[in-house]
Amino acid sequence: MQEKLFQVVCPNCKQAFFIKRDTVINHEIDDDSVLLLENRSLFVHTCNHCRTTIPLDYPVLYYFPKERIYIGYHLKGEGSLDSKSYETDSIEQFVEYVMMVRDGVMIDAILELKQGLLQGYTYDGMEANQLFFRNDGQLICLPKRDA
Ligand SMILES: [Zn+2]
Repeated sequence: MQEKLFQVVCPNCKQAFFIKRDTVINHEIDDDSVLLLENRSLFVHTCNHCRTTIPLDYPVLYYFPKERIYIGYHLKGEGSLDSKSYETDSIEQFVEYVMMVRDGVMIDAILELKQGLLQGYTYDGMEANQLFFRNDGQLICLPKRDA
């Protein structure tokens, strides 16, 4: 957990204020972080003054200690020999990767498929050992492989 203060100016009422966010999230310690990530509340703030929803974009690193996997959005993991680090270019991609690791998906295999079959598709969740990938209205379903 590494808290940082951000200054935000509301685009609607121009009120400026500071908000606190964790920039390093540990999956084992910060239990509710996956949920906040999945519903995107980590990346929005409601203006205290006029209640406008303000999107937040900041560097963040998500760490899975058991899997020794770092997922970073404009923030790098401490690359060591026994850990793996993935960098993402957007908040959507960051959330997608974290969801995949949380669900025990073999992320390397999926990233390979994203060059072909799964190009343009985003991980949409798992149900009964089937993985779902979505692209607009299209859905692809794959059996989950065990590591
Ligand atoms: Zn406001």
